[in-house]
Amino acid sequence: MKMEDLVNYCKQYGYIFQGSEIYGGLANSWDFGPLGRELKENLKKMWWQEFVLSKKNSYGLDSAIIMNPNVWVASGHVASFSDPLIDCKKCKARHRADKLIEDATSGKVTADGWENKEIEEYIEKNNIPCPTCGAHDFTPIRKFNLLFETYMGVTEDSKSKVYLRGETAQGIFVNFKNIERSMRAKLPFGIGQIGKAFRNEITPSNFIFRVREFEQMEYEFFCKPDTDLEWFKYWKQFCMDFLIKLGLNKDNLRFRDHSKEELSFYSKATTDIEYLFPMGWGELWGIADRTDYDLNCHMKHSKEDLTYFDQDTNERYVPYVVEPSVGVDRLVLALLCDAYKPNYEENGVTRELLKINYKLAPYKVTVLPLIKKQHAEKANEIYEKLAGNFPTTYDETGNIGKRYRRADAIGTPFCITIDDETLNNGTVTIRDRDTMKQETIKIDEIVNYVNSKINS
Ligand code: ATP
Repeated sequence: MKMEDLVNYCKQYGYIFQGSEIYGGLANSWDFGPLGRELKENLKKMWWQEFVLSKKNSYGLDSAIIMNPNVWVASGHVASFSDPLIDCKKCKARHRADKLIEDATSGKVTADGWENKEIEEYIEKNNIPCPTCGAHDFTPIRKFNLLFETYMGVTEDSKSKVYLRGETAQGIFVNFKNIERSMRAKLPFGIGQIGKAFRNEITPSNFIFRVREFEQMEYEFFCKPDTDLEWFKYWKQFCMDFLIKLGLNKDNLRFRDHSKEELSFYSKATTDIEYLFPMGWGELWGIADRTDYDLNCHMKHSKEDLTYFDQDTNERYVPYVVEPSVGVDRLVLALLCDAYKPNYEENGVTRELLKINYKLAPYKVTVLPLIKKQHAEKANEIYEKLAGNFPTTYDETGNIGKRYRRADAIGTPFCITIDDETLNNGTVTIRDRDTMKQETIKIDEIVNYVNSKINS
């Protein structure tokens, strides 16, 4: 499947639209339509349940997007949250120099963490061409900071300069003590947060894979020093298991451990879980052992004591941190790529299908009166009853076959048809999206039936 086909599908069925479309759009910005919004919410709910609510030693947070600018100085983002930017002298196209290498070698060489000089030399030695015009004539690399800047208050000077957060994680680090104290939390414990992050990416691209405004689901797991590598292993597997639970095909997922040269200077271990997107393998989820780096930086800059007193051992220390960090939008893209089958063939039937996990599907049920004139009243009554239990939609337009096809195309797990049997015997026909099997059940049984199938 081509990305273009997915973009068209998402637009046609109300999943994702081009941002500000009626004004000609805005460089790779996207709006989630009615279905996309529900899918995203369902995904976030599942992550929250799995990472925050299902664990005794886990807490949630919703911190501010605009923070004291010193947070970003302390975290190192102001000085070094930058990408290497390179321009083609011939066609003036702008590229991320490290991605040029990655793309030219189909991901075999990753230049993450390389010095600019090393990147320039590699591009030169391997005669890497400009992907836009094919020339090999580049400017030297310049560093380009990704933080979005804005001003707070009425004056626009350096004193009022603030940043839109480049990641949600820093909100967690600066609240570490607040949460430890208020929740009487004992190590090891984790803090999860879901929220918007902003990066002034040089080359936003590939639909919602790389955008300038996106959501992250980040989890910082604080633990005792020297237990970090154990926990790193645990979270690596936990994240992979979660992706499989969401329904992603195992063959489209892999771990990519960062080599020593690639690792940030403070990290003991980092792994990306990569997904096989239509344009090739790409990072989906970053899992990093960040040691005590972040808390130490904030201690140094804020002069606040962020150490932890361990009552079991009578020791005071700075906790180590393992961070699994994933982008909601990028994960939605992986889920759509995996589930969307433009021509799904089974048992001699070909149909357009979104074979997505029932829990993630925007609508669980669609209610269909067989003949509008005769069955709409009862169908509306049933719709009202179901809509209070789970997201339900109602469709009375076109013949029943067409309505089934639309429900399949948007991934709705169950179609409920209202016909004469419903009026005479109080039963409905319920059709399963994946098997296309139909069963007759009583109206009163619909809620339990649907709930049990979704949760099984
Ligand atoms: P990349 O190398 O792709 O730029 P990164 O290593 O900078 O990503 P992290 O800072 O580790 O990414 O961010 C954690 C997660 O947030 C990523 O694994 C990805 O899922 C998501 N993410 C990061 N940048 C973007 C973006 N511009 N658009 C959408 N999602 C993003």
